[in-house]
Amino acid sequence: MITPPPLRDDCFALPAGVDWMPVETALALLKEKLTCRVASTELPLQQAVGRFLSSDLYARRSSPPHANSAVDGYGFDGTLSDQSAPLVLPLIKGRAAAGQPYQGSVPKGSAIQVLTGAALPKGVDTIMLQEDVATDGKEVAFHGPLRQGKNTRLMGEDIQAGQCVLSKGRKITVADLGLLASVGIADVPVCESLCVGVLSTGDELIEASQSADFGQIYDANRPMLLGLLRRLGYAAVDLGKAPDDPKNLRAQLDNAASKCDVILTSGGASAGAEDHMSALLNSTGSMALWRVAVKPGRPLAMGLWQGVPVFGLPGNPVAAFVCTAIFAAPALQQMAGGCWPVPHGFSVPAAFHKSKKPGRSEFLRARIREGRVEAFGSEGSGRISGLSWAEGLVELGQEAATIKPGDKVRFIPFNALGL
Ligand code: AMP
Ligand code: MG
Repeated sequence: MITPPPLRDDCFALPAGVDWMPVETALALLKEKLTCRVASTELPLQQAVGRFLSSDLYARRSSPPHANSAVDGYGFDGTLSDQSAPLVLPLIKGRAAAGQPYQGSVPKGSAIQVLTGAALPKGVDTIMLQEDVATDGKEVAFHGPLRQGKNTRLMGEDIQAGQCVLSKGRKITVADLGLLASVGIADVPVCESLCVGVLSTGDELIEASQSADFGQIYDANRPMLLGLLRRLGYAAVDLGKAPDDPKNLRAQLDNAASKCDVILTSGGASAGAEDHMSALLNSTGSMALWRVAVKPGRPLAMGLWQGVPVFGLPGNPVAAFVCTAIFAAPALQQMAGGCWPVPHGFSVPAAFHKSKKPGRSEFLRARIREGRVEAFGSEGSGRISGLSWAEGLVELGQEAATIKPGDKVRFIPFNALGL
């Protein structure tokens, strides 16, 4: 079993001169710096859905493995079928069925009954559809011409033995299970599950089950981020919450680093008096406060705690969600052994007005109704109801823009983000 190399202490350092970082730069840096963190293992096919392939897979057999019939009918040597006159062919005894091949060979000028999926007997390369044939059990009669090869499937017409069927880093889909089984692959080399811890920080936080005092709020980020991670297929670890106290937070991070491959924290990521998360990461010398030019979001505190990557997300639930979906999720996928994902967006006419200043990207909570994309009424980063209302995000680039109803905008459905 191989283990990934440690990350370099300075892996989150910003290139000289970078201050406000465009979204694309942040993504490019994450892609470059955060490599696979998990070992490889092998799983039976049926347990492999949703896992990342840890090596390329090659077909052990062609598919179809032999030429076979696509229909129920009568098979013969198709060089005869160019004749346009009605053909009457003597029928030979026996038949070919799926799993019950005909062992003999069919002389040219004769026909044999062949059922769907049956391997083509020797001497047969063309099948006449049963419905288009008259037969008395001794002969078959039908009208030509029939193209040679008609109603058959060629050996290997889908996949050739030895061909690469799926590549390393692929997230295995339900359809892939069928594909792999069809070429004789029963056990699949996959990456171990990436273990991602979630910690909320802030003196004001209590659990939704607790009774609340004045000044306290329910921890919304932790259940949301744990759910998001599980939805993406990771082993999510609930690390609870930490008060705004460096000593306590330090102990919680030590504990987290001992059992997780990656840590997501929310809150305390800016540079204020109670922003202990960024202060602690800073003290390790590994932190970079990435001032990503994005709304909602900035800043993102990136660091290593005892060699474990930490995403210090903003505390505002909307910003925490967007930063996780846009920045952390692709990085997690790569750390889990997957390929870097690029979400498929759609160009959809807007149903809203917006004037946007230049200099930063914006993600709006959005959904499509009647072919147009609606944006949530408020852009407040604490308005978590807008996340529930939304079915995706509209991404607006850095440049200034005035968007009028009917203008095309890029809509990224939540399911394109794996959510
Ligand atoms: P911070 O990033 O710690 O300055 O927090 C920014 C805002 O998000 C504050 O209003 C916090 O109360 C709020 N917040 C922080 N963490 C959470 C959380 N886990 N759930 C809900 N709101 C939070
Ligand atoms: Mg806070």
